[in-house]
Amino acid sequence: MASVEADGSKTTSRTSCHVVAMPYPGRGHINPMMNLCKLLASRSSGSDDEGDIVITFVVTEEWLGFIGSDPMPANLRLRSIPNVIPSEKGRANNFAGFVEAVMTKVEGPFEELLDQLETPPTAMITDNYLTWAVAVGNRRNIPVASLCTNSPSVFSVIYHLDLLVQNGHFPVDLSVPEKGGECISYIPGIPSICLADLPRGFNNPTNQELEPVKKISSSIVKAECLLLNSFYELDTQAIDALRAILPFPVYPIGPSIPHMTLKDATTDSDDDYIKWLDSQSLGSVLYVSLGSFLSVSSAQMDEIAAGLHDSGVPYLWVARQDNSDLQKACGDKGLVIPWCNQLRVLCHSSLGGFWTHCGWNSTLEAVFAGVPILTFPIVWDQIPNSKLIADDLRIGWRMKKEVGRDKIVKREEIARTVQSFMYSNEEESKEMRRRARELQDACRKAIEKGGSSETNLDAFVRDILQHHP
Ligand code: UDP
Repeated sequence: MASVEADGSKTTSRTSCHVVAMPYPGRGHINPMMNLCKLLASRSSGSDDEGDIVITFVVTEEWLGFIGSDPMPANLRLRSIPNVIPSEKGRANNFAGFVEAVMTKVEGPFEELLDQLETPPTAMITDNYLTWAVAVGNRRNIPVASLCTNSPSVFSVIYHLDLLVQNGHFPVDLSVPEKGGECISYIPGIPSICLADLPRGFNNPTNQELEPVKKISSSIVKAECLLLNSFYELDTQAIDALRAILPFPVYPIGPSIPHMTLKDATTDSDDDYIKWLDSQSLGSVLYVSLGSFLSVSSAQMDEIAAGLHDSGVPYLWVARQDNSDLQKACGDKGLVIPWCNQLRVLCHSSLGGFWTHCGWNSTLEAVFAGVPILTFPIVWDQIPNSKLIADDLRIGWRMKKEVGRDKIVKREEIARTVQSFMYSNEEESKEMRRRARELQDACRKAIEKGGSSETNLDAFVRDILQHHP
């Protein structure tokens, strides 16, 4: 049986599987795909019945620049295709244009790259937002596993978008504010949810950038299986509902976060922000981060800076713009930095809370770390994630009750909420912290040997190896 080496050459030894992984070009999609691929790469145990897995991970040139120097296992190699748009900045400034380009300009270069590979792929793992990728695999007779980097609940909403459209609930038009309070319970696996908590885009009500999402349900059914970046115990109802509907295996394999690198990181505490965290008292610090690429208005940034300052709570704030001005506004209680190793920060013993935009990776990282959450969603899945955190999982509070870039939360409210979130000893707060620890425990069990995610990953590996021609 031919096998594929990391450099693409062939040897004739054991059963081998060459997986091509294609994430959507964004941090919140690349991170979980990369973590999954590293786990898969580590499954090449060397035993004859498991065989080897070699992975080709495809990113745009720009992303190759960002992640090219990260440590990689020998059987995982990076390959690049031309950039979708000139720079990542363009992504936030023209989101609809970026999404359109990902949907229309990536397929061609990706196919060319497939043609150039030294050994043909035996399986593909592609982000479920790349709806064209399943068709590419089907045409070439390569089985495709679709990876969903949103929560299972959000995937269920997206999968049932036709129901929402039929009922006039997508796109959500909240120009009449009372409409937001109307609740629906017809989406399989989703407990009653208000229209205000459904995913929505920036340009309510047109949501032009959401058009491609409508293709996900028709493309996904032609995939071989669905991989979910979550664990069964976290979103059981939605996962059960998806398993009942979809015509193929559904594997929750998450959280797909770099928890295996945490041990190495703690031996190296050179970063100034880690030293700063080391100097703070146990559970006292609020970590603030509103995601890797979107930002709030400058008026909202000013309110956040003033509110944090007035709260008197120590905080670490990742803000990618205007750091020096923000640092001045924050005084000596807070530290403002452009980027950090987020999982490491969340797992630091000084951490007491996480103010987040509710990106799904950030949510999972908080669950893994057992840190309670202040929710501040900006757009799309962050909105239902906020509801999941606050109402269903009960591991957080809503900082932002009304969603929309133009809705400003004022400094007084921020200071008040931050203070009681961090310091309150009321029953409600104790219960929130207890729930966060309980979920952390469930999360760690899921990824341990014999846990639900670990078992699902094993089953998936067996499946892709079985498909080996
Ligand atoms: N992240 C990080 N350092 C930072 C900010 C973000 O490592 O300073 C990582 C974070 O750990 C997460 C990802 O970037 O894995 C962001 O993904 P998420 O889904 O939370 O949000 P997005 O940025 O995609 O909206």
